[in-house]
Amino acid sequence: MTEQIDPKRSALMARVKGRDTRPEIRVRRLAHELGARFRLQRRDLPGTPDLVFPSRRLALFVHGCFWHRHPGCRHATDPRTRVAFWQSKFAANVERDRRVGRALEDLGWRVEVVWECETRKREVLEPVLKAILGLDTVVDTSDSDEHSI
Ligand SMILES: [Zn+2]
Repeated sequence: MTEQIDPKRSALMARVKGRDTRPEIRVRRLAHELGARFRLQRRDLPGTPDLVFPSRRLALFVHGCFWHRHPGCRHATDPRTRVAFWQSKFAANVERDRRVGRALEDLGWRVEVVWECETRKREVLEPVLKAILGLDTVVDTSDSDEHSI
């Protein structure tokens, strides 16, 4: 009578799998490596944060620069066609992010965003994530990440 797979969980896993993006995976992998305990996509929270760190009461979103309009980012390009369509779409996304952020904060969560462009290089992501997690100590790993660009 051993029930290995809880149907609710397997449905969740399937959904999680469908929603996985490479930037999210990079953030998760590094957060895991840094020893931070987190959960994925808590659907009971506003906006279904990509990662939730319960002990830090931290909700973390990994946002695509284009869709979520990373301010000042070269990836947040403006399409040249259907301008009005895109502008209203972008405005809706940004407004939604703002609303979700406020709702989470009202529930006592700290809300942070890691932008897609910050996930591409580990030497960029690591300090960003450490700052968010309050892990400012240097982790002594034997593998060197001193690649020059
Ligand atoms: Zn960006």
